Amino acid sequence: MATIDSKIPKGPLAQKWTNYKNHQKLVNPANKRKLDIIVVGTGLAGASAAASLGALGFNVLNFCIQDSPRRAHSIAAQGGINAAKNYQNDGDSVYRLFYDTIKGGDYRAREANVYRLAEVSNSIIDQCVAQGVPFAREYGGLLDNRSFGGAQVSRTFYAKGQTGQQLLLGAYSALSRQVNKGTVKLYTRYEMLDVVIIEGRARGIIARNLVTGKIERFFGHAVVIGTGGYGNTYFLSTNAMGSNGSAAMQIYRKGAYFANPCYAQIHPTCIPVHGDIQSKLTLMSESLRKDGRIWVPKKLEDAKAIQEGRKTANDIPDEDRDFYL
Ligand SMILES: Cc1cc2nc3c(=O)[nH]c(=O)nc-3n(C[C@H](O)[C@H](O)[C@H](O)COP(=O)(O)OP(=O)(O)OC[C@H]3O[C@@H](n4cnc5c(N)ncnc54)[C@H](O)[C@@H]3O)c2cc1C
Repeated sequence: MATIDSKIPKGPLAQKWTNYKNHQKLVNPANKRKLDIIVVGTGLAGASAAASLGALGFNVLNFCIQDSPRRAHSIAAQGGINAAKNYQNDGDSVYRLFYDTIKGGDYRAREANVYRLAEVSNSIIDQCVAQGVPFAREYGGLLDNRSFGGAQVSRTFYAKGQTGQQLLLGAYSALSRQVNKGTVKLYTRYEMLDVVIIEGRARGIIARNLVTGKIERFFGHAVVIGTGGYGNTYFLSTNAMGSNGSAAMQIYRKGAYFANPCYAQIHPTCIPVHGDIQSKLTLMSESLRKDGRIWVPKKLEDAKAIQEGRKTANDIPDEDRDFYL
C-alpha cells in the first residue's frame, strides 16, 4: 500500500510553515532565470502562482484552455473571500478562521495547511487591494465585510456579486505585468494532455495547440497544476463544462494522489438548466442577499414619484422592486 507523505513541516501547528519558510533553501537570484516552471491553469490559483513566480524571477510557462486567462472558471465565484482582519471587532482571529475552516471541511483538511491559509489570509486581501480589486466599502471608505457560511463573525470581503471576476481581473493584471516583463510566457488555447515524469519528478507536459491541433511538448524543472475543480463529473453542477476532471485524471494516472472525490461543492440556490443556451446550473446572484444589489422600481408611476420627490426609495416595498446584478 502506498504511503502518503504530505510533506508538512515539523513543529507546533502554528509555527510549522513559518519555521519552514525561515529555514528553507533559497535559490540564488542569478539562477532563477535559468529555472523553467510550467504552470497549468490561469484561474485564481494558476494566474496568481504564475505571476508570483514570475515576479520572483523564475522563467514561467503558463497554459490555459481558453482564449484568455480572464475566462477561467474563477470568474463565476460570487460570494467573497475570507480573511481574519477582524475589521468588525467581533472577536475574529487567525485561530478562529483556522478553526471554522477545519470545521467547515468536516475535520478532514490538513490542519497545518489550513492554519497557513488563515495566517496569510490578511496579506491576500492587502495584495488584492494593491492590485486594484474593487472590494465593497463602507460609506466611510473602509473595506466592508459580510457574514458567510454560518460563521459567527463577519469576515468575508466581497465585490458585489462578482468577487471571483474582480479577483481574477486583479490576478490577470499582475500576470500581464509579468508577461510584459518577459518572465511569464502565456500559452492560451493549449490543453495539457499528459504530464512527463522523469525519475519520479514532473518535468514537463504534453499539450495540444487547440488552434492548429498540433501536439507539442514543453520542458520544466517543476510543474504546477492549477487546473481547477471537477464538479462537472456530477450530474448537477455550477462548474463550467471544462471543469470535468480530465487534468486531475491525467496527473492521477502519473502517480499523484486524488483524495475524496465525493467532496464537490454544490450550490443549492441555482437556476436549473432550461434551454439550449444554458449549459450548466446558474448560481443565483449573491446580490439577492441584499448586499451590493441594484434595484429599480417595477412600476413606472413609482419611478416618476421618486423623481418628483413624492416618494422615497424606502416607500417602495420589496415586491415592487426589480433586482439585478
Ligand atoms: C458559481 C460558483 C460560485 C463560487 N463562489 C465562491 C465564493 O464565493 N468564494 C470562494 O472562495 N469560492 C467560490 N467558488 C469556488 C471558486 O470559484 C473556485 O474554487 C476557484 O475559483 C477555482 O480556481 P482555480 O484557479 O483552481 O480553477 P479555475 O478558475 O477553474 O481555473 C482552471 C484553469 O485551468 C485551465 N485548465 C484546466 N484543464 C486544463 C488542461 N487540461 N490544460 C490546460 N489548462 C487547463 C483552465 O483553462 C483554467 O485556466 C465558486 C465556484 C462557483 C462555480
